[in-house]
Amino acid sequence: MSTAIRENVDLQAFNTLGLRARAAHFVELTNEADLAPLLARAKAEAWPVQLLGGGSNIVFAGDVSGLTIRLSLRGIRLISDSQAGAKIVAEDCVIIEAAAGESWHEFTQYTLAQGWAGLENLSLIPGSVGAAPVQNIGAYGVEVADVMHSLRAYDREQGRVVELSAADCGFAYRDSIFKSQQPGRYVILSVRFALSAKRPLVLGYGDIQTALATAGVQEPSAIDVAQAVIRIRQAKLPDPAVLGNAGSFFKNPLVPSAQIEQLQAHFPGLAAYPAQLSTPGWQKVAAGWLIEQAGWKGYRRGSVAVHERQALVLVHHGGGNGAELLALAADIVASVQARYGIHLEQEPVLMGG
Ligand SMILES: Cc1cc2nc3c(=O)[nH]c(=O)nc-3n(C[C@H](O)[C@H](O)[C@H](O)COP(=O)(O)OP(=O)(O)OC[C@H]3O[C@@H](n4cnc5c(N)ncnc54)[C@H](O)[C@@H]3O)c2cc1C
Repeated sequence: MSTAIRENVDLQAFNTLGLRARAAHFVELTNEADLAPLLARAKAEAWPVQLLGGGSNIVFAGDVSGLTIRLSLRGIRLISDSQAGAKIVAEDCVIIEAAAGESWHEFTQYTLAQGWAGLENLSLIPGSVGAAPVQNIGAYGVEVADVMHSLRAYDREQGRVVELSAADCGFAYRDSIFKSQQPGRYVILSVRFALSAKRPLVLGYGDIQTALATAGVQEPSAIDVAQAVIRIRQAKLPDPAVLGNAGSFFKNPLVPSAQIEQLQAHFPGLAAYPAQLSTPGWQKVAAGWLIEQAGWKGYRRGSVAVHERQALVLVHHGGGNGAELLALAADIVASVQARYGIHLEQEPVLMGG
């Protein structure tokens, strides 16, 4: 086995919040064939196994015991191209596969440069391709569930590589079987996407139309949409390279429409909108609005804070730890619950501690 296991490894550079934590055992997986022997070793040593991608959706609550495997598998390949006469999925559709360790943003830009639309609204989301299905990443009206064809994963229960269709993944709003139902069972090795030059663009969310108009674009291409999304995100969200953060710290809560109507009578500004993949009669409420109206925007406590432009984002100014961040998050949850009767659920995954 070429992959070396290191001990007592500093994880600060491996999480975008920049929280301090150490991994008891740590390995960078660059070769798929090394995975099964690594998992066998972890089993023999009774080490719990943690999977790490880009660390942009993780809060380290403390040190991480057992074996942390960082998925660094690389490679992008075209699986099928209907125009080339290969396995036809839909007319003008390509199936393209990326290995788990590829950068998500770079992959989206690569596909767009080839002329394939589908991932433009998901530009500039940090992290790896392998983690994208885990919480069914989404932005500006598009989720991975809308564009994913299938994935390959190592099933730790069966001890073999399996292929899962998008339907097998149990996708829901910021959720999948990998996040809530069977966490840790599957190590995602590569993900396949169905993209097409003729895929209709999704322009109705957020400020996309405004950003396109500002740029003077009248008949946008997928690349124009990606550039608009990138500009909006750069203006709204803190860059983790400059200020530690994990993006949205809370999910937008799903609330029964009847409760929303009652709340809107007291809080006329409360914004609600239909959720993709959700049950009829429920709507999503903007968690950032709830937090901002509860007075938290810009609040700082020691080294952790609520971002001054985006109340949904908790930030770490450096020198702090996961416990401080989680204490602030707990106070925000309690305050929103007391004010609106709505429970906020944390989006990033807890690890260690
Ligand atoms: C500034 C900023 C903006 C963001 N904006 C968005 C957004 O718009 N929409 C959105 O949905 N998210 C957003 N996020 C969250 C984050 O980018 C995504 O959740 C991303 O998919 C996480 O990828 P990662 O590789 O960093 O995963 P990590 O944080 O390393 O891991 C996340 C989870 O996935 C698991 N995991 C990682 N790789 C694998 C694998 N190969 N197989 C199985 N499990 C694995 C981990 O064990 C962990 O449970 C944002 C984050 C930041 C910092």
